[in-house]
Amino acid sequence: MLAKVHLPSSAAEAAGLLGGGGRLLGGGTLVMPRVNTGAMDVDTLISLRGAGLDGLRVSGGAAEIGAAVTLARLGTHDELRFLSPVVRSIASPPVRNLATVGGNLFAAQPHGDLTVALLALGARLDVLSTGGSRTIDVGDTVGDNEVVTTIHFGLPHTWRYRKAMRRRHNSASIVTVAAALVVGDGVVEQATIALGGVARAPVRARAAERALIGRPLDRAAAEAAAEAAHEGTAPFDDAYASAWYRARVLPVHVRRALLGED
Ligand SMILES: Cc1cc2nc3c(=O)[nH]c(=O)nc-3n(C[C@H](O)[C@H](O)[C@H](O)COP(=O)(O)OP(=O)(O)OC[C@H]3O[C@@H](n4cnc5c(N)ncnc54)[C@H](O)[C@@H]3O)c2cc1C
Repeated sequence: MLAKVHLPSSAAEAAGLLGGGGRLLGGGTLVMPRVNTGAMDVDTLISLRGAGLDGLRVSGGAAEIGAAVTLARLGTHDELRFLSPVVRSIASPPVRNLATVGGNLFAAQPHGDLTVALLALGARLDVLSTGGSRTIDVGDTVGDNEVVTTIHFGLPHTWRYRKAMRRRHNSASIVTVAAALVVGDGVVEQATIALGGVARAPVRARAAERALIGRPLDRAAAEAAAEAAHEGTAPFDDAYASAWYRARVLPVHVRRALLGED
C-alpha cells in the first residue's frame, strides 16, 4: 500500500529523497495506473511538481527545458513550433496536460515519441544525484538514484517528423521517424535520424544518415536512406503491429518523412 507522497521544493531535495528509496513522479501518466492496479510496488512517491523544474527557455538557437515541463506546454511554445507535430502525436490532450518531458524519457517503446525526437536533435540531459551532477546524451543510462533536471538541444535547421499509428489518439507508434538535417545549396550536409517503434529503445538510423549526406534531398536520396534504415533495427510484435509489418512499412515512412510527404 502507498505510504507517502513527497513534494520536494528543489531538485536537490528530490535527489536526496530518491537516495533514500522511492519513485519519482512527473505527471504520473505511466506510474499512477501501475500503482493503482498494484502492478508497481512502491511505498514512497517523490513528485517533481514543485521542484522548480518547469523552466522553458529558448535563446541563441538553443532550448533549455525543465524535466517537469508538460508535453502540452512544450507543444504550444511559440519558438518550438517544430515540436508541435511530435507532441500532437502523443496520447491525447488529457494525458499531454499531465505528462512531462522528463517522464517521456522513461516511456518504454513503442511509446517515447518525444524521446525519438530528442535523439534526432542530439539532446543532452542534466542529471542530479546526491553525488553531484553530470550531463549525458539522450539514450545514455540514467541511474536509479538520479533525477533528470534539464534537457538541452540546438534548434534544427531542417526538421522532419512522422509517426505511423492506428488511430489519432492514444495509439502507440508503429514507426516513428524524426530527422534533423542541415541542407546547404540543396545538398544534405548533416543528418541525424532517429527511429521509434522498430526496436526496444529509440535508435539512430546511422546507415540512413550516411546514405543522405552529400546528396540533394530528393526522391532518389530519400529512397536510398529509407532502404538503409533497416540497419540496427529489431522490430517486435505487439498489440499495435507485428514485427513483420513494422519492418515492411519502415522504409515507406522514412522516405515520406524525409520528403515531407503526407
Ligand atoms: C493512454 C496513454 C497513451 C500514451 N500514448 C503515448 C504515445 O502515443 N506516445 C508516447 O510517447 N507516450 C505515450 N504515453 C506514455 C506517457 O504518458 C508519456 O510518455 C509521458 O511523457 C510520461 O510522462 P509522465 O510525466 O506522466 O511520467 P511518470 O508516469 O510520472 O513517470 C514515468 C517514469 O519516469 C520517471 N521519471 C519521471 N520524471 C523523471 C525525472 N525528471 N528524472 C528521472 N526519472 C523521472 C518516473 O520515476 C517513472 O519511472 C501514453 C500514456 C498513456 C497513459
